Amino acid sequence: MMIRNYKRAVFPGRFQPFHTGHLEVVRWALEHVEELIIVIGTAQESHTIVNPFTAGERILMIKEALRWGKVDLGRIYIIPVPDILMNSVWPHYLKLFTPPFEAGVSRNPLVVRLFKEAGFGVLIPPAFERGVYSSTKIRKMIMSGDETWRKLVPPVVAEIIDSIDGVERIRSLLSGD
Ligand code: NAP
Repeated sequence: MMIRNYKRAVFPGRFQPFHTGHLEVVRWALEHVEELIIVIGTAQESHTIVNPFTAGERILMIKEALRWGKVDLGRIYIIPVPDILMNSVWPHYLKLFTPPFEAGVSRNPLVVRLFKEAGFGVLIPPAFERGVYSSTKIRKMIMSGDETWRKLVPPVVAEIIDSIDGVERIRSLLSGD
């Protein structure tokens, strides 16, 4: 039987967009927790160069990517949370929106520090081809017309981006439309 480190943990990210590296983090986290709460951070923002997709669009991308990847959705929550100006209370603020959790899953040094200082456990996942799987890189590829971005996301994520005219949205943001 697999040993679980925690009953429930949160995995925060902007997921702009959700890519194959994120999917691997979810799989890795599910080896350490019974249930994983994927927190869609910066939920208030969309239609900007760094945050092109709405929280609702990101919920859909994540749910369909997990379904495509045969992840057990019965062990997953996907919850959007707007940012706040007070970093030190942010881990506690998350509790307003989520079921109780004991730990955070993150590689982001600020997020790791905030969870630790707030008294939560921390799970730091390995990097899954971090130089390849990066939302920043994917957005840059989309902006420059490099179609290889499609290989860096689960196929259902590319389909959702196409269905919302996401490529054109990102390019128009760059041109200041
Ligand atoms: P992200 O860039 O979407 O990444 C989410 C997580 O996935 C990060 O831990 C990232 O680690 C990891 N990751 C990405 N690609 C990976 C790969 N190939 N292999 C392994 N891990 C990979 O999001 P983030 O910037 O960490 O998002 C944190 C969210 O929390 C943001 O929305 C932020 O605004 C929010 N937040 C809010 C407050 C506040 O409201 N005061 C405070 C703190 C955080 P890397 O570090 O390697 O990218």
